[in-house]
Parts: sequence; structure tokens; C-alpha cells
Amino acid sequence: MMSENKFIGAHVSIAGGVNHAVKRAYDLKATAFALFTKNPRQWQAAALTIETIDNFRAACDQYGYSSRQILPHDSYLINLGHPTRAGIEKSRKAFIEEMHRCEQLGLSLLNFHPGSHLQLIKEEKCLSRIADSINIALEQTQSVTAIIENTAGQGSNLGFRFEQLAAIIDRVHDKTRIGVCIDTCHAFASGYDLRIESTCADTFKAFADIVGFQYLRGMHLNDAKSDCGSRVDRHHSLAEGKIGTTLFSWLMADERFNGIPMILETINPNIWSKEIVWLKTLAFSTKTASKPSFC
Ligand SMILES: [Zn+2]
Ligand SMILES: [Zn+2]
Repeated sequence: MMSENKFIGAHVSIAGGVNHAVKRAYDLKATAFALFTKNPRQWQAAALTIETIDNFRAACDQYGYSSRQILPHDSYLINLGHPTRAGIEKSRKAFIEEMHRCEQLGLSLLNFHPGSHLQLIKEEKCLSRIADSINIALEQTQSVTAIIENTAGQGSNLGFRFEQLAAIIDRVHDKTRIGVCIDTCHAFASGYDLRIESTCADTFKAFADIVGFQYLRGMHLNDAKSDCGSRVDRHHSLAEGKIGTTLFSWLMADERFNGIPMILETINPNIWSKEIVWLKTLAFSTKTASKPSFC
């Protein structure tokens, strides 16, 4: 019953194999989780074996996770807006392989950072290269939705303004298989103030107007060591950074964030279970508080 409409978890390790991620999420009492389906710092990966695939699917059944509660993340090396031909071809090939891995594992989402212009091409050109990459990947796969993550805007990374996310979506042909994941640390670092209720409301009003909540398919819940507008990507544990507690209670009280994986990428895995309990408590308390009283 408690917080049944919010799916809350963390980005868990795949040490020992992807199927081990599922039990790790369960041990955290998570109702969602994120994972890599391969080493995110290497281009190459061994193909998933039938045994690994079967074990992963069986673990998801056993511990009660459906694909809508799982948000796989792609490799850090992939740049779908890469300015060079060789660079973009390598990235597109790797991204399609990652989508296939998700399909094999029965996963329906793939979260990725949009791409970087590397100071070699204009922003507009890079955004359309990203959209072209997504179109190519969607044509070559069947069941996975591409989930663009907003960035902090560090270096030449795009996707730090809602307008940039909207510009990519606008150029994607199959709108049923494109979505976004909003990372709270990245949004804050890129200049969206999230410290008090009114600025949380303003930020997500802008999101609703520019992107639209129908595209929101996941969240990364992180506090920030970096300042608002610094464009520096430094995560922190919840309530310990520059964002503070208000945002997270505000999110837990808002039904527009129900039914999507909300994933901690906070810096101390030893307190993930406590952070998850805290978020669940917030979701629960806002539910009871919103019930009418008949006394
Ligand atoms: Zn993130
Ligand atoms: Zn980050």
C-alpha cells in the first residue's frame, strides 16, 4: 500500500552479472532500479548468454520488478551527436547494440545522455544529429523506448535546457518510443532552481509547457554539490547538498511523478536504503495528509 504509485530505487551494481542487480535492488527494498547492461567504460562487451538472460528475467519475476520499474543506462562513451563520421558511426552501432541487449533482457527503456558537439559543430546541428541517431536506432529495434536524460551542461554536453530536449523529440519520427528522464542534480546545475516549492513548481511548469509530462518516463533523484547554474555535474546524497529537502518532498507529493522509475545516483551507496525509506515515507505522509478527515 505504502507509496504504491511511486517507484523508488537506485542505480545498482551488475558485479557478478546483470541478474545480480535485481537482488541488490530487492535488498534495498527498492521498487525501481537502474543498471548498466555492460561495462559503461568499454566499447566492447561479450554477448549476453541465454543463461544470463534467463536468470535476469527469472530474478525480475521472483522479486517483482516489471520493465516499467527498470531504467537501464547506456555507456558513457556513446555520443549520438558526435561531429565526425567515424565518431558517430561507432556511437550509433554501440547504441543499437545496447538497445538489443535491453530487448533480450525484456527491458523497455534505455536512458542515455543526448550528446556533445565537442566545439566542432553548432548546437543546432548537433541536436539534429542526435535526433537522426535516435531515428536510426528506433528503426532497427522494436520494443525499447529511447529515454533522453537532461544534462548539467558540463563541457559541450547538450540537453541542459528543456528547449533542447524538445528540439530532439520534435525531430524523432516515432513519438511513442521517445521519452525523457529528468536528473534533479543536472537540472539544478544547469540553472533550474529547485530549492523552494515555488521554484520547483516553476521549473516543472516550464517542463510541462516546453517538453510535456507525457514524455516523462523516469527521474534521477540526486542532490547537488555544485551550485545552481554552475553547469558542473557533482551529485550529492539527498538533503546534504545545495538543493536540500524541499524538492524531494515536493516530488513525492505530486502525482505527475507516479508510475515511473525514480532512481538514486547519490554518492554513498551505504545510505541508499535509508534514502529510499525517507522518500517512501514522504510519499506515504503526503498521501495520508491529503485524505479527507471525517471527524
Ligand atoms: Zn543521471
Ligand atoms: Zn550526473
